Amino acid sequence: MKAAVREIFSSVQGEGPYVGTRQIFIRFDGCNLSCRYCDTARSGAARHCRVEAVPGKRDFVEVANPLSGPELVKLLQKYFNAGGHHFTSLTGGEPLVHAEYLEGLLPAIKQMGLKVYLETNGTLYAELSRVIGLIDIVAMDIKLPGTSGCGPLWEKHHPGQAGTGVC
Ligand code: SF4
Repeated sequence: MKAAVREIFSSVQGEGPYVGTRQIFIRFDGCNLSCRYCDTARSGAARHCRVEAVPGKRDFVEVANPLSGPELVKLLQKYFNAGGHHFTSLTGGEPLVHAEYLEGLLPAIKQMGLKVYLETNGTLYAELSRVIGLIDIVAMDIKLPGTSGCGPLWEKHHPGQAGTGVC
């Protein structure tokens, strides 16, 4: 199983109760929404992943997509070896469009001793239920009807509603 990833880098969390902590960011490609202000293409077909050669140095190199779980874990190893990271942050795009891939990947990340921080648009409840046991922190957006590109999402944000894929 493989997934397209846009970027892997070390940086400081800028939001929420863990603001200021250094995290490893895995920025997945693809999303089920189309927010007006989005900086990520919806397709999930990025040909290359930008990876920091040295964690925190912004010296990116390109790695061909898609990446298998073992390939991604190998890329993460140098971040783990560098130390100082509190979490691995899954961001995007929408990480949960890759839920099946995450089921295979996250146990290996946990084995490296890293906690998992999920950033999600909160519309893929069924996909979240597949991986929630492997997630330490969920940072969830509420999308207002005028921004999502998909109209009102109140029911999809409700935990009683199953995720419905691309809007
Ligand atoms: S949920 Fe996030 S990644 Fe998806 S379209 Fe909106 S801003 Fe972009």
